[in-house]
Amino acid sequence: MTDNTHNTPNTNPRDQRLMEIKRSRNRLFVCFSTLPVYMYAVSQVLDNGNSSNVIMFTYMALYAGFGVNASVKRCPDCHQQYFVKKYFLNPFRSQCAHCGLSMHPKG
Ligand SMILES: [Zn+2]
Repeated sequence: MTDNTHNTPNTNPRDQRLMEIKRSRNRLFVCFSTLPVYMYAVSQVLDNGNSSNVIMFTYMALYAGFGVNASVKRCPDCHQQYFVKKYFLNPFRSQCAHCGLSMHPKG
């Protein structure tokens, strides 16, 4: 049973943790959404006869950074990794991979 005696959204640490989880997921999605820009940039660089390694590594590092950032986020309830069940990061879930806690607080 949850304690609903005080209805104060975003002020308790549990909700703040959930907000943080949501933000880290959003960053990952923003990164996904820049993929066409990245492809365009790489094609431009290749057309000009330059190496695209720098862009590729930068992009991969960005992905890895956001991915790690999301994967280390822990559920405020069960303290397991929120997006990771076994070895796979699944940023599309909006519930804890372990206890099913939703990242959208009810109210
Ligand atoms: Zn959980």
